[in-house]
Amino acid sequence: KVRVRFAPSPTGFLHLGGLRTALYNYLFAKSKGGTFVLRIEDTDQSRVVPGALEKLESMLEWTGVIPDEGPSHGGNFHPYVQSDRLELYQESVKALIKNETAYYCFCTPKRLDLLRRDAVRRGETPRYDNRCRHLQPEEVKDKLAGKAPFTIRLKLEPTPDPWDDMIKGPVSHNVAEIEGDPVLMKSDGFPTYHLANVVDDHHMEVTHVLRGDEWQPSAPKHILLYKAFGWQAPRFAHLPLIVNKDGTKLSKRQGDIHVEHFKEKGYLPEAVVSYVTTIGGGFDCDTSSLTLKELVQHFQIERVNRHHGRLDQLFLERSNHAHLSRIMESEERIQLVTSLRSLLQVAYGDRTGERTLGTELFDRNYLLHVLEWAVGEDRISKLSDLLQPEFAFLWETPGQDQVRSLQSQHSDLVHLLSDCLLLLDRQVTYDKGSLAETLRGHARSSGVKVSVYMHLMRQALSGMKEGPPVAEMMTVMGKDNTLRRLQHSVK
Ligand code: GLU
Repeated sequence: KVRVRFAPSPTGFLHLGGLRTALYNYLFAKSKGGTFVLRIEDTDQSRVVPGALEKLESMLEWTGVIPDEGPSHGGNFHPYVQSDRLELYQESVKALIKNETAYYCFCTPKRLDLLRRDAVRRGETPRYDNRCRHLQPEEVKDKLAGKAPFTIRLKLEPTPDPWDDMIKGPVSHNVAEIEGDPVLMKSDGFPTYHLANVVDDHHMEVTHVLRGDEWQPSAPKHILLYKAFGWQAPRFAHLPLIVNKDGTKLSKRQGDIHVEHFKEKGYLPEAVVSYVTTIGGGFDCDTSSLTLKELVQHFQIERVNRHHGRLDQLFLERSNHAHLSRIMESEERIQLVTSLRSLLQVAYGDRTGERTLGTELFDRNYLLHVLEWAVGEDRISKLSDLLQPEFAFLWETPGQDQVRSLQSQHSDLVHLLSDCLLLLDRQVTYDKGSLAETLRGHARSSGVKVSVYMHLMRQALSGMKEGPPVAEMMTVMGKDNTLRRLQHSVK
């Protein structure tokens, strides 16, 4: 039975790279009828950010990539937070001391620092010289009895054989040749990432480890650790990294890669999830409009990319529009109305009733009608686009000053607005085509150039110089609304 885990450190916001890892674990688990576990790796307490876990869980919730087991999700392998499992690591490492695959290291921070500096001076990569590996048992006993501070290190063995990565294929990395023996237990009794990670994956019965490519160099150490414990290692799959469009490394400090940022910008969770799939691949079809459930159905781990993936903003826009269209076709569209309403509430707040439409602004049918138009005509890629200045006419009526300046600028044409009011009042079919015909006919019969006429109408209706075609604006605003604005403009 497949069991996978997403094992983030609670050091900040969930970013796209984290979501990528969570998502691929989820897809793999669900496509195999397996279990997706959330485990919090907080053994480096100095990096823990208060509130990060809650934020992380709420972002996973938002995207729908929801764990089956985890700190807030129940499961039989509690606790799911590493700082609550310290005893287990202490116990486990004792077994390694006992079978002599690990050893006490009494090197002082000062000595290690000197080693490091020395290497740097010689232009070499710093590496521990494994000195304490060779301490005599009596020496170790004495130092322990004398309460000398210690760490515990793993004896790295040569690892000439490649191991089989599910994505990369055979990978070899003779870690013992490159690195000194790694610390498993720090002097404060906290485990390092390597120890806690392996102990937990074993005890949580994790069968497959899917994680970012940056962890690939750790894999041989982990494989050696499994061997030292006498446990069977899980299968490993290292997922492609995300890079910027220009190929540079994505920085976690860039605010615009936080999942929350996309939420705030008004993107749909489905689109953000689709966006992330473009980096990892794993599909033989276009994922831009697929729901999470459909992604699970189509996912094939063999198809995951080996190379780094670039973010493509245009894909995100296209995907968001595709998901909006899909939702507009379903019962869920009412949720879009609710979301749009809250966006408007934030943007206009208590300004309603002044220049804004007041009741319409929050009227369900009006909002639905606007959405049908904006999504159907591909005018927006996300809901918050409707707050752009070009759509202000949907939410704001022209102000007194705009009306007055229109009247003084075009005093010779204002009568056209009153005439148009009468024409529209009599208009039976209120659609784009018929309205355009009425307007053009009216311009012609009044001896006014169509472009001048439309310009006048646009300003009267919206106070704007540019925007969608006038007849289209009229249909979106609706008849009553249009008539009210025209009345207002001739007062
Ligand atoms: N705690 C590690 C991280 O922050 C987990 C790496 C792994 O999945 O092994 O990504």
